[in-house]
Amino acid sequence: MAAFGTVFMPKMALTTFENNQWSPAATVAADSIQLHPGAHVLHYSSTCFEGLKAFRHSDGSVHVFRMDQNVKRFAQSSRFLSLPAIDESQVSQMILDIVAQYAADVPEPPGSMYIRPTHIGTEGAIGKAAAPTATSMLYVLLSPVGDYFTAGAKALRILLDETGMRCAPHMGMIKSGGNYASALGPILRAKAEVQADQILFCPGGDVQETGAANFLLIDGNEIITKGLDSSFLHGVTRSTILTLAADLGMTVSERNITVDELLERAAKPSVEAALSGTAAVLTPIGTFIHNGKEHKVGTGEAGPTTQKLRQALNDIQWGKAPDTHGWLTQVV
Ligand SMILES: *Cc1c(COP(=O)(O)O)cnc(C)c1O
Repeated sequence: MAAFGTVFMPKMALTTFENNQWSPAATVAADSIQLHPGAHVLHYSSTCFEGLKAFRHSDGSVHVFRMDQNVKRFAQSSRFLSLPAIDESQVSQMILDIVAQYAADVPEPPGSMYIRPTHIGTEGAIGKAAAPTATSMLYVLLSPVGDYFTAGAKALRILLDETGMRCAPHMGMIKSGGNYASALGPILRAKAEVQADQILFCPGGDVQETGAANFLLIDGNEIITKGLDSSFLHGVTRSTILTLAADLGMTVSERNITVDELLERAAKPSVEAALSGTAAVLTPIGTFIHNGKEHKVGTGEAGPTTQKLRQALNDIQWGKAPDTHGWLTQVV
């Protein structure tokens, strides 16, 4: 199967911001856009994106998961980057319309249609290093995906990094390209030097998140994750898993965790750790690498609570369990 994110539906929804207003949304070819080489985004990284999914149910209906949360975060990222304010209801409608157009192409579970709203600064103005773009473009790309968990159910190897950081602290809550560029060098080094799959960034010992997913620790009936602050990306999957954990009677602890506490708890055989995100869903961590030493997490394999929470989430997304929290928006 093609690698995640390399196949796109032939059309996308697009709107542009000019003269202080958004154009009516259009459906255009998804294989090219026209951009001035001096566009603000290409020089000063005025860009943010979102990632959400649409799912097919067994009765043929198609549903988008927690779209309101993603659109809200998209608006927040745009605001923090001084991009033009998005029109949340317009963007929501663009998402629903383009998914409806390709409803027949939404894969069966465990596949889904990945939705990638993107907002970029388009003003051709290389003198604006310290000024916002006056114009922008916003489009919604669709990419059908399989479930790459079943392809590689192996628990991850994660390097704990106490000296670096994923991005500048004031950028943590923004889903913006520059943050991934910032984390790429350290991640490639961690892959080459200690065969890590990802880095868990823990500046000064404070356990934050990896390059593109949130971190959750499960100790018996308790699920622990860093409380929301401006230093990291507030994942929709994180919040969903915490809600499902509470529904299942687990104790949810949102608080800071230190690397010392993490390693101490990880040594217990009943402990599990996982990464959460729209693409990864909930992926188990088998090993922490810290100061040249390897620490197994619990048994080193995917644990039962991680699997139970992942299943509970998939069951709602796939229409196999009631959507008691109203997380799904039916498209067709
Ligand atoms: C997208 C992302 C996440 C996960 O967010 P979800 O809303 O769960 O997909 C976590 N961390 C970073 C840095 C991300 O970019």
